[in-house]
Amino acid sequence: MYDFHIHSDFSIDSKAPMESIVKSAIDKNLRTICFTDHVDFEATKEKLDLMFRPLDYFRDINRVKYKYKEQIEILSGVEIGMQPHLSNRYYDFINAYGFDFVIMSIHSIEGMDIFYDFASSELGPEDTLNLYYDEILKNLSVFDEFDVLGHIDFIDRYISDFDVNRKYNQFMEKIEAILKMLIDKGKGLEVNTGALRYGLENFHPKPQILQLYKDLGGEIITIGSDAHIATHVGYEYKAAERMLREVGFKYIYVFRERRKFPIQIL
Ligand SMILES: [Zn+2]
Ligand SMILES: [Zn+2]
Repeated sequence: MYDFHIHSDFSIDSKAPMESIVKSAIDKNLRTICFTDHVDFEATKEKLDLMFRPLDYFRDINRVKYKYKEQIEILSGVEIGMQPHLSNRYYDFINAYGFDFVIMSIHSIEGMDIFYDFASSELGPEDTLNLYYDEILKNLSVFDEFDVLGHIDFIDRYISDFDVNRKYNQFMEKIEAILKMLIDKGKGLEVNTGALRYGLENFHPKPQILQLYKDLGGEIITIGSDAHIATHVGYEYKAAERMLREVGFKYIYVFRERRKFPIQIL
């Protein structure tokens, strides 16, 4: 098992020390984990940077990496909250440090954090979804320095009274454009099992999006739990593999030093 989306207490929304996560991963027989703590530049209306201190982050990762090197492989990644005007800042940040893996996620739309600010906005679900997918397209057109797009339909967590499984067709054209851009750029798509913990019926992405990615020729998939507590590491990994197999994928990918390596789905 390989978990490529994990938050320790270097993220503002996690209290889990790295070592507790590592121990939980070893207990569950994970082979490789990659910490992907949050860096969200200008995350709020007040333009606060929500991030860790990189040197402390790498020092602590290296500490557990060395201590547990016989039992598990530990990698250093980051989940960046992308906004189009921040592309140069993120480019410089990522290239200043030796990350193994970079997830690009969209946590804010037009300067408003989806979790903190947007949920209370007046927009209806259709407008919210349109804005969100347009924002992903904008980000993809200005930024390349990442490996996978995180939780593509994560906005579903924040729209209530909308049947996301049945009423999604109207957004599939935009989603197809996003998937095509990812494929053209050689970037991957993350399967994020955390969705189930938010009361959604499916992982991110929902099967129809994953199927479309496959049909368009997409191959690069990573699996991540989006754990913010130690016990969630490796969450529903086998179910994710099963779903990928059903859609027709034969491999998932892991990343080391920003290079991808295929792992056969058993
Ligand atoms: Zn995220
Ligand atoms: Zn995350």
